[in-house]
Amino acid sequence: MSFVSIDSVLDCLQSQEKWAQGRLWRKIFRYWEQAVGDLVAPHTRPTGLQRRILQVAVSSPVWAQTLSFQRRSILQKLNQLIEEDLIVDIHFSTARWEKINSDRKITKVLMPTDNIIPTTPQEALDRCRSVVQQHKNKHRCPRCGAPAAAWEIARWRLCQHCAVQLFFAHRR
Ligand SMILES: [Zn+2]
Repeated sequence: MSFVSIDSVLDCLQSQEKWAQGRLWRKIFRYWEQAVGDLVAPHTRPTGLQRRILQVAVSSPVWAQTLSFQRRSILQKLNQLIEEDLIVDIHFSTARWEKINSDRKITKVLMPTDNIIPTTPQEALDRCRSVVQQHKNKHRCPRCGAPAAAWEIARWRLCQHCAVQLFFAHRR
């Protein structure tokens, strides 16, 4: 049996959470255009989810008003397309529109979501494993020379395997 450090487990949980969030966002982005239509889409951009209310930046107050009137039907369509009922309302605002457009270049560099966020639970798990593996390979056990995790060396000055043999064997 092997066990991993708390840090690694927390990393795993965090990436699972990110994975779920990222999955929802990808779906919102993918289907948003379809939900509002080609004509409206260029004037809008989903920016966030606050207490299950989808925040959408719009290019002008007129669009904000028009879309606010239509938001129930847009919401219904979007929830159908993404096959989730997590979003309960949509809030349209012009406030963030300019900021988004000036940030767009930077945003694209900083958030290539498809690369950062795993697309499947398996991928998330694989990444966790490789993180754990990387931690393990940083250190070597002075007794047997096998790769050891930092916490193993910190705790026992040995790999877990050797520590169990040396410190716990006689208790069996
Ligand atoms: Zn060892």
